[in-house]
Amino acid sequence: MEQNRAVMVRIGELWLKSEPVKKQFMLALTRNIKAAMETQEIEYSLEEYRGRILIFGDPEKIAPIAARIFGIVDVSICETTTNLPEDMAKTALKFAEKKLKPGMRFAVRARRQHVSGFTSQQLAGMIADVIWEKIPDFVVDLDNPEYEVFVEAREYGGIVYDERIPGQGGLPLGTAGRAAALLSSGIDSPVAAWLMMRRGVTISGVFMDGGRWAGSATRSLAMDNVRILSTWCPGRGIPLWIADLEPFFDAMTASCDRHYTCLFCKRFMMRVAEGIAEQNKLEGIVSGENLGQVASQTLQNMGVITTSVKLPVLRPLLTYDKEEIVAISRRIGTYHESPGDTECLAVPKKPATRSGQELIEAEEKKVDMDKLIREAVQSAELWIAKDGDIFQKALTE
Ligand code: ATP
Ligand code: MG
Repeated sequence: MEQNRAVMVRIGELWLKSEPVKKQFMLALTRNIKAAMETQEIEYSLEEYRGRILIFGDPEKIAPIAARIFGIVDVSICETTTNLPEDMAKTALKFAEKKLKPGMRFAVRARRQHVSGFTSQQLAGMIADVIWEKIPDFVVDLDNPEYEVFVEAREYGGIVYDERIPGQGGLPLGTAGRAAALLSSGIDSPVAAWLMMRRGVTISGVFMDGGRWAGSATRSLAMDNVRILSTWCPGRGIPLWIADLEPFFDAMTASCDRHYTCLFCKRFMMRVAEGIAEQNKLEGIVSGENLGQVASQTLQNMGVITTSVKLPVLRPLLTYDKEEIVAISRRIGTYHESPGDTECLAVPKKPATRSGQELIEAEEKKVDMDKLIREAVQSAELWIAKDGDIFQKALTE
C-alpha cells in the first residue's frame, strides 16, 4: 500500500453540529466508507483528523468510490508529507510539473492549522517561489486560475493536492431516521428515495404491484430501480416490499366513482406503506409526487392523499422541474431509456384535479378498506436489494 498517497475526504455540514452529534455522524460516515471499501474488496486504511478523513490505498480506485458516499462534499487524491514548508513545496512542484505550463494562470491555496513559524500567505509564497524556479512565467491569478495547487499544513503533517472531485454532499446514511419509500417503475420515485438517502435517511422500498391493471414491465422496472439504488449504500441492502394492488383495483373499480381512481389509489398506497412502516418501525413515507405534474398532484389532491395516513409524508421532489428530476435520474443510474409497457389501465379518461375529503371518504366506505389494506400488508413479499443485486428474502433463509 502506498503510504504517502491517499484520498482526502471533505465533510461539509457536519461541522455545524454539536460535538456529540458530530461524533455520531463521523462514526456513521466511517462505517459507510468501510462498508463501501470492503464491498469493492479494496485494500485500505483510514485515518481520521479533525474535519478530514484520509483513506490510504490505491487512490485511483478509492476516489470514485468515496465520491459516491453520502455526507462527503468532495474528495482529493493527495500526497502526504511532513509539515515543513520545503517538503510541501517539493511535493507541490511534483504536482505542478504534470500540469502547469508557462503562461498559465496559477494559484497556490495554502492553509495552516496548529502549525507555527509561518502564515498561510507566507506558505503560499514559499511554494510559488519553489515552483517558479522550475516552471517560470506562470501568472498568479487567485480569482480565476487555470491550475491550482492546494497545500494544507496540519499538526500531523502536510497534505498536497491539485484537484477536488465533487462528492454527493448530504448527510451520512443512517443518521436521519428510517422511512418507507413508495417506489414505482417510474422516474420520479427512485430520485425521491435517493434524495432522502442522501439526506441520511435509511429507506425501505414499497412497490404496489397492480397485476393485470398495470403495464407488464412495471414490476421488473421497480425492482431494477431498487437494485440500482442499492449501489448507493454498499454493503447495507435495501428491503423492498412488494404488495398486491390488484384486489384493491378490482374492488374499487367495481364500486367507486372512477373519476377519483388515482386519488383512491394513492391513498391506498399510502396506507399500505404505513402498515409496512408500522411493522418495521419506520418513521415516514417518501413519495415521488411533484406539484402540478399530474392530476393527482394538485395541492388540493395532495392534501387529500396526506390525510389518509398519520405518518409524515415526505415529498422531496415537490418543487423540482421535470428536467431536473431527469438529470438526477440519469446521474444516479435509474433512468430507463425505453421502459416498455408501464400503462396503468385503471387511470380514468378525465382524472379529477379537485376532490373533497368528505366525498372521497364516503366513496371509500363502499369497499372494505381495512380488510384490503390488511391483506395487502400481510401478503407483501420481501425482497432485498444489495450491492446491485436483488433476491427474495424467503428464498435465502
Ligand atoms: P413516478 O415517476 O415515481 O411513478 P409519477 O410522476 O408517475 O411518479 P404517480 O404515478 O402519480 O406519479 O405516482 C406518484 C407517486 O406515488 C410516485 O412517485 C410513487 O412514490 C408512488 N407510486 C406510484 N405508483 C406506485 C406503485 N406502483 N408502487 C409504489 N408507489 C407508487
Ligand atoms: Mg408513475
